[in-house]
Amino acid sequence: MSELTELTAAEAAAKLRAREIDATELFEAYRARAEADELNAFTWVADAAPEPVADTPLGGVPVAVKDLFCTEGVPSQAGSRILEGYRPPYTATVVANVTAAGAPLLGKTNQDEFAMGSSNENSGFGPVLNPWDRTRVPGGSSGGSAAAVAAGLAPWAIGTDTGGSVRQPAALCGIVGIKPTYGACSRWGMIAFASSLDQAGPLTRNVTDGALLLSHMVGHDPRDSTSVSLPEPVRLPTAQDLAGIRLGVPEELIAGDGEDGTGIEPGVRQSFEATLSLAERLGATVDTCRLPHAPHALSAYYLIAPAEASANLARFDGVRYGLRVDGDADLETMYSHTRKAGFGPEVKRRIMLGTYALSSGYYDAYYGTALKVRTKISEDFRTAFGQFDFVVTPTSPWTAFELGAKTDDPLAMYLNDFCTVPMPLAGIPAISIPSGLSDGLPVGFQLAGPAFSESRLIDAAYALEQAIGFDGDEVRR
Ligand code: GLN
Repeated sequence: MSELTELTAAEAAAKLRAREIDATELFEAYRARAEADELNAFTWVADAAPEPVADTPLGGVPVAVKDLFCTEGVPSQAGSRILEGYRPPYTATVVANVTAAGAPLLGKTNQDEFAMGSSNENSGFGPVLNPWDRTRVPGGSSGGSAAAVAAGLAPWAIGTDTGGSVRQPAALCGIVGIKPTYGACSRWGMIAFASSLDQAGPLTRNVTDGALLLSHMVGHDPRDSTSVSLPEPVRLPTAQDLAGIRLGVPEELIAGDGEDGTGIEPGVRQSFEATLSLAERLGATVDTCRLPHAPHALSAYYLIAPAEASANLARFDGVRYGLRVDGDADLETMYSHTRKAGFGPEVKRRIMLGTYALSSGYYDAYYGTALKVRTKISEDFRTAFGQFDFVVTPTSPWTAFELGAKTDDPLAMYLNDFCTVPMPLAGIPAISIPSGLSDGLPVGFQLAGPAFSESRLIDAAYALEQAIGFDGDEVRR
């Protein structure tokens, strides 16, 4: 790595503001690295550095953006062949916000098609490789964003999290991922998967970078009626300890040993427990807590998310965006030929599942029940936060698995999300930080807090991060 790309994003921003380094040189250094990407992390890379803009808070530190975000005039394909070649006429609010703050677009990153997946193998543009071991997946669905940051092909990146898609790939690639409170980031211009769950979030080398990027992403947007202003700006973290912090470990989410495909695998558990001990040494108290309905989160999620997706994806019909495959007869044949050719198998599976769950006669039994479970999960968290500041779990039950290992078994793939889906169902924020290595592969530690607790959550994660001292340098060379 060059000296420029060794800097964290926050360090680079400070040096740019102090005019100690040059924005065009920094952009070019990353552009060259992204251009030479061997991980298939990028689906598009800018061909030149933009004109530097003076006096912005981020000073010109480039950002990689998941392909799910619309970016004006730049391919925005959401990992799907049905959007091949689609160049939107506008830019998503979150991307516009960070660009205005001085983070120009470096490139668009690969992802699972319409963000449906946990391994990036559902991309219409090929899988992404994990920089820690290229025979393994980077996680998903923001796998391209995670791999790009972990490998030092981008200083930082933006992804989206519906059921874990920022936190889980961050965990599998040894970086930091934040899923903010639902509504903190505008969803305008984000290609919709499950609208009641989707949130944008930063993927970064460390917690400080995560806080800095998030602070420029958030904000109420009149074009997204579900967006809200955070009660206070996202602060950069400073905490050195966890004095007085009460951590709750939900017994329902950490049961099992991974042997039968459920539960936490031993290396992940070891790293999780070591992190809990470290937290205690930093002054935290650690106790078991209960989230009685959390084991049903996965079932509820895999009804609610496909139900919403089946409605959201109805707009891809060959008329308005991207691909069109003409039928020889009528309009309806054109729709069905286009959708047949354009959508991949996982997307088709979810449209079928969601349409079924919403059909008259089954609506109450499936979708209605899932919504009730969702309410119970929110109540569980509310009760837990009466006694605890944060709930902590491993982010993913496993470390990065071999490419192809779970592609034939969708249910095994869905189990990846066991510890990450309860939080978006409850709309609450969560962060994943690297807690160490297991057999040479990164393990993620997750902290979740009440709605709008971003700054406190980030502070706690920062104190832990300093104590853990995880080093991801070896994969950034
Ligand atoms: N892996 C989950 C899914 O396939 C979560 C994806 C996401 O957060 N976008 O739906």
